Amino acid sequence: MILVSACLLGINCKYNGKNNRHDKALNLGSKIVPICPEQLGGLSTPRPPAQIVGGDGSDVLEGNACVVTDKGSDVTGHFIAGAEMALKIARLTGAKKAVLKANSPSCGVNCIYDGTFSHSKRCGNGVTAALLKAYGIELITEIDL
Ligand code: SF4
Repeated sequence: MILVSACLLGINCKYNGKNNRHDKALNLGSKIVPICPEQLGGLSTPRPPAQIVGGDGSDVLEGNACVVTDKGSDVTGHFIAGAEMALKIARLTGAKKAVLKANSPSCGVNCIYDGTFSHSKRCGNGVTAALLKAYGIELITEIDL
């Protein structure tokens, strides 16, 4: 089984109520498990955009960085809860690989927005990507398909 960011499959779970439909993600076959960590963590859709401030996903998991919205609300707990749910789903389904949305503070792999809400990016994984990687799940983004 392969975890796939649900927004890549045309599901309207993105912060603005839209999606990031990607044809190659839709052609991955039937052994896919859609996940949206931000919804799994209890956030509503639509919701304010959020970014990691002070580090990357690993730093968030270690308590050394936080996730805040563009209005300054701390949503770190939701992001960690969503990552834990995504890992739980990976274990339940036996998924060993994930195709995740590039640059997202949850799903981004090796590159995420930098916390300034200026469209700038930095190296690092999103919170869910960091947790999945720590448990040995192979990660790629839609760009790698
Ligand atoms: Fe949900 Fe991840 Fe897509 Fe964001 S990038 S909408 S958290 S699946």
